Amino acid sequence: MGKNKLIVITAPSGSGKTTLVKRLLASCPDVEFSISACTRLPRNGEVNGRDYYFYEEDQFKRLIEEDAFVEWEMVYSGKYYGTLKAELQRIWDKGKIPLVDIDVQGALAIRLKYPENCLTIFIETPSLEVLRERLEARGTETAHSLEERINKAAYELTFAPKFDQIIINDDLATATHNLNNVVAEFARN
Ligand code: ADP
Ligand code: 5GP
Repeated sequence: MGKNKLIVITAPSGSGKTTLVKRLLASCPDVEFSISACTRLPRNGEVNGRDYYFYEEDQFKRLIEEDAFVEWEMVYSGKYYGTLKAELQRIWDKGKIPLVDIDVQGALAIRLKYPENCLTIFIETPSLEVLRERLEARGTETAHSLEERINKAAYELTFAPKFDQIIINDDLATATHNLNNVVAEFARN
């Protein structure tokens, strides 16, 4: 395995990123999920140090000053999210490849820092109609947050051509197969 490789995955909300990443991690022992830092509150069932490193805003700002982040952003108003250098190093030290799950802007920022060893992947549904159906079926959104996510998705989709690989999540088994293949080839070379 090459040294200090990095996988960055982005998708509009509802595209199936969580579903596909879980399957990928289960079948690819060379890859480990990179835990981001953030300042939002933990949701029910989320664990500090497993889902995110949860910080108070002043702690997060101190980390920014200490240059502890590869990238950080205010993804939602008032809420900071960032990839810690120490987290990537923790995974590299185990001889594994970190998988970073971040928004479009964060993905493009990280790629600028690791142009050589970085695989960027964008996951999308066959259409915005399908995305809407999946979000409705998931049952996690209000009418308002659903519209917000669809609008954001339309914007995020314009960045898809900037990514190394686009995975269309139509049939789940096919998308899983395609994602696993792309990652396995990157891990091998
Ligand atoms: P994301 O993490 O991108 O927001 P999820 O993984 O939560 O997306 O997927 C959104 C919803 O769509 C979930 O209810 C999931 O079970 C469902 N889903 C994922 N992939 C497919 C697929 N290929 N076909 C049908 N439903 C899917
Ligand atoms: P959520 O609050 O739903 O867990 O995540 C909100 C958004 O923040 C998602 O789009 C997720 O990909 C993004 N995100 C998570 N971690 C990071 C990070 O470290 N950096 C950036 N830029 N975005 C992140």
